[in-house]
Formats: sequence, C-alpha cells, structure tokens
Amino acid sequence: MVSAIHILNASDIGNDHLELIARRVQETFATTTDISDRPFNLSRAYDSSRGQYNSTVLLAELLNSSPPAENKLIAVVDVDLYIPVLTFVFGEAQLNGRAAVVSVQRLSNEFYGLPQDEKTTFRRLEKEIVHELGHTFGLFHCRRYDCVMRSSTYVEEIDLKGVEPCESCRTALKGVRWNPS
Ligand SMILES: [Zn+2]
Ligand SMILES: [Zn+2]
Repeated sequence: MVSAIHILNASDIGNDHLELIARRVQETFATTTDISDRPFNLSRAYDSSRGQYNSTVLLAELLNSSPPAENKLIAVVDVDLYIPVLTFVFGEAQLNGRAAVVSVQRLSNEFYGLPQDEKTTFRRLEKEIVHELGHTFGLFHCRRYDCVMRSSTYVEEIDLKGVEPCESCRTALKGVRWNPS
C-alpha cells in the first residue's frame, strides 16, 4: 500500500521521535504516513554567500527525487533554510501541493545559546510539520492565537500556539477533496 504522506528524514533526529509526530499527522489529516531516510541531495539548494539552503529549491528537489506514486512529501532537514525575501524560514510548503520541508535547526534551544531541551524541540517540530502539511492541504495562515496554522517568526510564537488546527481550519480540511491512491 502506498502511504499518503511520506516523511523523509534527512536530519539527525531519530525515526522513533518522528514516528510519534507521524501519529499526530495521521490523526490530524485522517491519512496514513510512513517515514524513510533515503538519501536526499541538499547541495543544489545551498547558497554559499548566505551559508543557507533555499527552501524553494529544496521543494523542487524533493519532488524530482520522488516517485509520482508518492502523494504528499515532507522532508525534515537540519540545515538552515531561507527564501530570498526573508532572513530564514522554519519551513516551506506548496499551497495545495505535494511537497513541504521543515528544518529543525532553529527549533532547538541550543541554537539560541540556551540549555538543550529535546522535548521542546520535538514539540516545536511537531507543530511545524503539521503547519506545513496544513498548507499542502490548502490551509492558509490563521489568526487564532492557538491554531497550529498561525504563522510564527520566532520559536516563542511556536511555543504559544497549539499543535492542532482550530475549528474553522478543521472545517476547511474536511472540505478538501483528496483521494490518495
Ligand atoms: Zn505557514
Ligand atoms: Zn485556524
């Protein structure tokens, strides 16, 4: 059986942690998931002048390297992502599309010179994965403070929001016509 959402682990996070997040994804989007760590070439997205990776190029690479039978794809990476108009992004997704990418790099307290706190990192990663996948299901940013679809510029904002879509985002999700093969 082909799973509906493929989580491609290109980070040093253990697959066991991603499995817990995958369960959340299954519940939220009422679908199946699987996790793989097949090699994924990030080098084409690297911008040496910024020392960062262009997340839009990564999305294209992700689609190129994946069989068409795979439905939605989300890559988890641990490199720093950007889009040209922003200093950095936590992730990017194709609105109503197949591909999304999330970086764990700026989600850890260590990145900000604070003591390591894995639980916090995983909670943030879970929210960002659900958020970016929400975009692939056509959800826009939401203004509800506790909705997972609220946009976040800083980790503090990720911490404030919930891991679930609010009622109106849930209703929008139910209206999505999506028939994974
Ligand atoms: Zn967003
Ligand atoms: Zn919402």
